[in-house]
Amino acid sequence: MSGVLVVLEHRGGAYNRMSWEALAAGQQIAAASGQPLSAVILGSDLESLSGELANKKLDKAYRVEHVLLKDYTADGYVLALEQFIKKLDPIFVVFPHTYQVRDFAPRLAARFGQVLLPDMVGLRKDGDSFVFVRQLFQGKLNADYRHAGSGPCFLSVQAGAFRAESLEAGSTSVEAFAPQLDTGAIRSKQEAPFREAAQTVDLSSAPIIVSVGRGIKEQANLPIVEELAQALGGELAASRPICDNGWLPMERQVGSSGQTVSPKLYLAVGISGAIQHLVGMKGSKTVVAINKDENAPIFEVADYGIVGDLFEIVPALTEAVKKAKGA
Ligand SMILES: Cc1cc2nc3c(=O)[nH]c(=O)nc-3n(C[C@H](O)[C@H](O)[C@H](O)COP(=O)(O)OP(=O)(O)OC[C@H]3O[C@@H](n4cnc5c(N)ncnc54)[C@H](O)[C@@H]3O)c2cc1C
Repeated sequence: MSGVLVVLEHRGGAYNRMSWEALAAGQQIAAASGQPLSAVILGSDLESLSGELANKKLDKAYRVEHVLLKDYTADGYVLALEQFIKKLDPIFVVFPHTYQVRDFAPRLAARFGQVLLPDMVGLRKDGDSFVFVRQLFQGKLNADYRHAGSGPCFLSVQAGAFRAESLEAGSTSVEAFAPQLDTGAIRSKQEAPFREAAQTVDLSSAPIIVSVGRGIKEQANLPIVEELAQALGGELAASRPICDNGWLPMERQVGSSGQTVSPKLYLAVGISGAIQHLVGMKGSKTVVAINKDENAPIFEVADYGIVGDLFEIVPALTEAVKKAKGA
């Protein structure tokens, strides 16, 4: 056994950002262990996606291609990856922690007599082995995990835990692997993916998010923050009470029971910073918090804090942004 294998995910001809974050995690594991790094994509007709993969710092890249992998199915992915992993024989298999991965990766790991270590937020080297960190009880506790046993170590990486920007560029060739699949083995049929249902918002790929909390007081005041989001060219998000009240749809909720986001800029407006909210946005690159309570926990994770009344600050900020953009 040798090497670190990262399984990348794509849809509609594009990689998702979490795949690059998983690759960043893979690069860290490879660098710390001195093991070669490879990445794999699955599907049919993977020419243009292969080109993008060839530009990353990898020892080797692979495309597992078959007409029966055109649409995602758990059966197809498990069978194809099982054959490929047996051939490659890696020590680590790293996935982004997406809905699709949650669907098939535990079964794939079980084929090797292993479990999937899901939603990893950090890792460190300890002697010859690795310690992987994942959160418990809605982020209140960090738990350390070590892989035991002789098979590959399967793990998935939480959105925002590793930075796609830290990915190193390089040049590699992409080798094709043709799995043995037949139609009888694929028992399910692909339907429209959950994330792509009409009107859903994918906050996880938004570069700028303006998030609003109970400090906004009532639904009628929401246009104040909507205007700021619009001026910044960002998405509007919210803490749970705002969505529970039905002031904004559930798909805009950030936190342990909402979406996990990692934008370049996260602006928290009138949000106290409860742990269940923080676990969903702590991967943001820059956090700006506006809160009238200087002791609000959100300031502990904020890069920039503005202590004051949002009803004064937000409209002034919107005006300043519009002016700066010449709008
Ligand atoms: C199982 C479970 C899951 C949960 N999941 C989530 C989740 O996914 N996402 C989530 O967000 N929460 C979640 N919660 C709820 C969480 O515990 C908090 O209750 C929630 O995040 C608080 O939302 P908030 O910060 O908007 O409201 P509050 O805690 O009420 O904070 C409002 C803030 O606004 C400030 N403020 C008030 N007026 C102004 C003003 N005029 N100007 C500026 N600041 C002002 C206040 O100082 C205060 O800090 C969950 C809870 C549980 C138990």
